[in-house]
Amino acid sequence: MKKTNIAIASLVKPHVQSLRAYEAVEIPCRVKLDANESPYSAYSIQHTAFSVRKNFQTLNRYPDPEAKALRKLLANEFKVKPENILHGNGSDELIYYLITTFGGPVLYPVPTFSMYGIISQALGEKKIEIRLDKKFDLDVEKILEAIKKYRPKLIFLSSPNNPTGNSFSSEKILKVIDAVSSRCTQYDVRSLVVVDEAYQAFSSKKSFLPLLKKYKNLVILKTLSKIGLAGLRVGFMTADSEIIKEVNKVRLPFNVNSLSQAVAVEALKDRRLLQSCIKSIVSERKRLLNEMKKVGNIKPYPSDANFILFKVVNSDKIHKGLLKKGVLVRNMKGVIDGCLRVTVGTPEENTIFLKTLKQLL
Ligand code: PMP
Repeated sequence: MKKTNIAIASLVKPHVQSLRAYEAVEIPCRVKLDANESPYSAYSIQHTAFSVRKNFQTLNRYPDPEAKALRKLLANEFKVKPENILHGNGSDELIYYLITTFGGPVLYPVPTFSMYGIISQALGEKKIEIRLDKKFDLDVEKILEAIKKYRPKLIFLSSPNNPTGNSFSSEKILKVIDAVSSRCTQYDVRSLVVVDEAYQAFSSKKSFLPLLKKYKNLVILKTLSKIGLAGLRVGFMTADSEIIKEVNKVRLPFNVNSLSQAVAVEALKDRRLLQSCIKSIVSERKRLLNEMKKVGNIKPYPSDANFILFKVVNSDKIHKGLLKKGVLVRNMKGVIDGCLRVTVGTPEENTIFLKTLKQLL
């Protein structure tokens, strides 16, 4: 039988038609340093606790829709109440929920994490993109101008920023939060500022969490993905309970599965393992940066995250050359031309990367 024909694209909403999917292609390689994952699993299967194992016997049941145990543990750790925490299937999902709940315009600096733009467009919301300054820091003047002009509902600031690796200056972030808070009389604009702390564990700068007490328009996003649990898909946001209540209205009922909830709780209890993985990555980042500085023809940028951005002549060729030798890094073409981004791996992986890079150059 002949299949009926229909131009599917003609049925798609115009703003989705022009959207490009997030690139997450699986490329086979020996050394995988492209996705800002941790090279270490922050959970040891040998230690599978009863609380995790018992979940395998109840897979016929839906997970706890409110992720009570996980939220309670996170609340204790962050010295807030469970009502201040919302769980997501990765922090990606919470970005989706925030934009669904509050709508646009959505303002963010560029280059930054691509999902702020992709999700805004998917939901048909206006995007306001403000270029970072030459030091990859916030251009506060331009941001304030845009705030006045476009009156954004949401402002996303990833600090440390992906893909540049630096933290934004805390004073600059504060200026933005202040300008759109009820304390500011200069602009009549009220917006939520989402400080995305996906990489904060690797930074020496302080988290913005304590400022939740002062600013009702502040949201902090965090994730377990970068600290050794990317496969779990667990992220969370911390904010005023009124914000959590509103965002919770659009949350899918069983968004974080029972195994992920249970493993996340166990893994978070093992602070020693988490901290030792983070410490090793931070120390390797230092070594990697120092070694990269010695390589001619490349310019590595300092990083507060678990990856290093670097400029290199013939970036496409180097990207391909590395892959040919089994080393996968991220080509930032189209985002920051001429740049590649390498995730900090194990000492052995980093050594292979450095050796291969030196050979190619
Ligand atoms: N925020 C930033 C800045 C990121 O780089 C990423 C992952 N690349 C995320 C959020 C999303 O992380 P996840 O959905 O895995 O929690």
